[in-house]
Amino acid sequence: MIRTLLLIALGLLGPWLAPAWAASGAKLKVVTTYSILYDIVRNVGGERVEIHSLAPVGSNPHEYDPLPLDVQKTSDADLVFYNGLNLEAGNAWFDKLLGTAGKAGADAPVFRISAGVAPQHLTSSGQAGAEDPHAWLDARNGMQYARNAQAALSRIDPDNAATYQANAAAYIGQLQKLHSKALADFAQIPAERRYLVTSEGAFKYFCAAYGFEAGYIWEINAENQGTPQQVIALLGQLKQRRVPALFVETSVDPRSMQMVARESGIAIAGTLFTDSLGLPGTPGDSYIGMLAANVETILASLR
Ligand SMILES: [Zn+2]
Repeated sequence: MIRTLLLIALGLLGPWLAPAWAASGAKLKVVTTYSILYDIVRNVGGERVEIHSLAPVGSNPHEYDPLPLDVQKTSDADLVFYNGLNLEAGNAWFDKLLGTAGKAGADAPVFRISAGVAPQHLTSSGQAGAEDPHAWLDARNGMQYARNAQAALSRIDPDNAATYQANAAAYIGQLQKLHSKALADFAQIPAERRYLVTSEGAFKYFCAAYGFEAGYIWEINAENQGTPQQVIALLGQLKQRRVPALFVETSVDPRSMQMVARESGIAIAGTLFTDSLGLPGTPGDSYIGMLAANVETILASLR
């Protein structure tokens, strides 16, 4: 690459070679299904990638209606990353998009970024045994996502493998630091207060990693969210133990949890990030930022 640039600078290569050089210098076109993957892949790909993310910040990636632009970008993409583990499953929106965009074949450059993660499973009736998607809420799984992004980018663009490796190593170092700090911070929360109540039960991986128990109104975002039966079941659990605080999520309608707060007399102590980054310019506007913000919010409310 540098040698080619040098030859061009020296005028040793004719202008007819320019298109080939331009092609090799072009950024990889990448599509990710939601904002959290966007940020992880952006950190590993750096300057080499141009990313279009499907489900916008603040929205729910379990169910999404792709726009014509999303179909176009997916069709043009050199690489597509999705979470898998039952995330992009609502109305099969992602599979349908791949079909429409001509990327449904077995040889299409479509990568499951959660490959190698040990899955947690759903337990509620009707979906028991299905995989739980929210692996990224354990920072160690985020490290695995970064390694997988590195491997996929390097396979498609081997000339820049060293760059992807250096970017991934630096990023994984930051995630390792965050993970260690989370463990140290949470050690300040007494065992009997380590109970995390959210609207969606998105914290299975998180609870296993950081030593919490989870309560929720519904287990996974789907059509039945916040039914009277679900609210009554959670209120029953809240009567049986002292729970210091309730939480809502940035990408979920808060009204069901507001009802639980009114009925139980337990306050909503804060807002957590689960399925989306925060808006640009807010502390949760990166994957590391959203995890760090969650640690702070949980620590301030449960300590
Ligand atoms: Zn979710």
